[in-house]
Amino acid sequence: MKRVTIFGTGYVGLVTGTCLAEVGNQVTCVDIDQAKIDGLNQGRIPIYEPGLEDMVHANVRANRLHFTTDAAKALSAAEIIFIAVGTPPDEDGSADLRHVLAVAGTIGRCLDHDAVVVNKSTVPVGTADKVRHRIQTELAARAVQPRVDVVSNPEFLKEGDAVKDCMRPDRIVIGTDSPQAIDTLKTLYGPFNRNHERLVVMDVRSAELTKYAANAMLATKISFMNEIANIAERVGADIEAVRQGIGSDPRIGYSFIYPGAGYGGSCFPKDVQALERTARQFGYEARILDAVEAVNRDQKHRVLAMLEQHFDDLKGRTVALWGLAFKPNTDDMREAPSRVVIEGLWARGAKVQAFDPEASHEAGRVFGERADLTLCSDAFAALNGADALIVITEWKQFWAADLAAIKAALKTPVVIDGRNIFDPKKAEAAGLAYYGIGRGRSV
Ligand code: NAD
Repeated sequence: MKRVTIFGTGYVGLVTGTCLAEVGNQVTCVDIDQAKIDGLNQGRIPIYEPGLEDMVHANVRANRLHFTTDAAKALSAAEIIFIAVGTPPDEDGSADLRHVLAVAGTIGRCLDHDAVVVNKSTVPVGTADKVRHRIQTELAARAVQPRVDVVSNPEFLKEGDAVKDCMRPDRIVIGTDSPQAIDTLKTLYGPFNRNHERLVVMDVRSAELTKYAANAMLATKISFMNEIANIAERVGADIEAVRQGIGSDPRIGYSFIYPGAGYGGSCFPKDVQALERTARQFGYEARILDAVEAVNRDQKHRVLAMLEQHFDDLKGRTVALWGLAFKPNTDDMREAPSRVVIEGLWARGAKVQAFDPEASHEAGRVFGERADLTLCSDAFAALNGADALIVITEWKQFWAADLAAIKAALKTPVVIDGRNIFDPKKAEAAGLAYYGIGRGRSV
């Protein structure tokens, strides 16, 4: 059993803390957001993540998981301290380290015993040095000298699968040159990694870069497929056939080659940008990353272009949107393609009727009350009186929707399938004017 303190109770911090408590550790989660901590102490989980709620409640009941805003108290017995706070993009796209360094300052001001500080936030190469320096400066000001190792341990969990990913990670990357820190983390992660086969130990800078490289590679796969989809549209080919044709090659594989309305979320857009900025700071123009971003920016407008091509003018139209979250199984709308589409529709004078199984509350928070946005409580209610349906998030419950019922509910039977979840032939047979991504229709 280890005493663990985690700074940040967002997607990463809350899930990591809960999973570490689940395997028997004593975990205290610290946040500066009093309302979040009060909610958690009353049993309210601030995010939607499959399996998380029950696990939080069970570990709170077992007295292994605690929530507080009192950093000093939370640090008083901590052996391992995680930093899992946000690193949003700065004005120029580089990662804003304000929160990470604020936590480092807090640690330096409070700690009076040896500890391992583990950074899980996604941070540019060189951040561990900055964190170490900030902690040491504060310790020196108090004339105390505990041994503090600063380790990079980037997080690879996927929102929507976060608990599963945390309990059974593909790999655990540890960046440090301290044998003691490696040993401590080997023990901590033992229950998730019985034979240590998933532990990849490296120097701290390589660990920091590994996280950006992973996200940039995944974003590249998506933008690459979207580029091929755009070619397919023009040459009259079907990207779904092409996808299967290339995915069957094991060197390529099927994962992450789905064309669509662009990637979003709190990670890919900001991490691709931040890596580009890091490269530039070091005198290198990352041309592939530039293109990945540019293709994605345009891709978020593809569904709007299709709709405009169909109707010419969208003024006064009502458009149904299925999906608001940036991907299924989450309520997260950060950088979601739905936001670009909704704002594009408003800019063209259209109204939106949207449904999402989990993100409606978040959409209400993001957009506030507006006459041109109705958040519906079920998928078919969003279709009522609408001129078209845009599918923007591929929630499982949309895949098997009755196409004839969609036609019957819409005022004009137009479907823009931003995730290619429907079969174009079946959609057309049901009387729908169907537009998918890269499905042989030239726009
Ligand atoms: P989040 O925005 O959901 O949560 C961050 C939390 O940190 C917030 O609750 C905020 O109040 C808190 N916080 C800010 N400053 C603090 C401080 N000084 N002390 C204590 N708490 C503080 O963020 P997230 O999505 O969990 O991401 C955290 C980091 O992990 C980011 O760097 C992100 O890039 C990275 N990451 C995220 C994911 C993901 O899927 N969300 C996956 C891998 C890595």
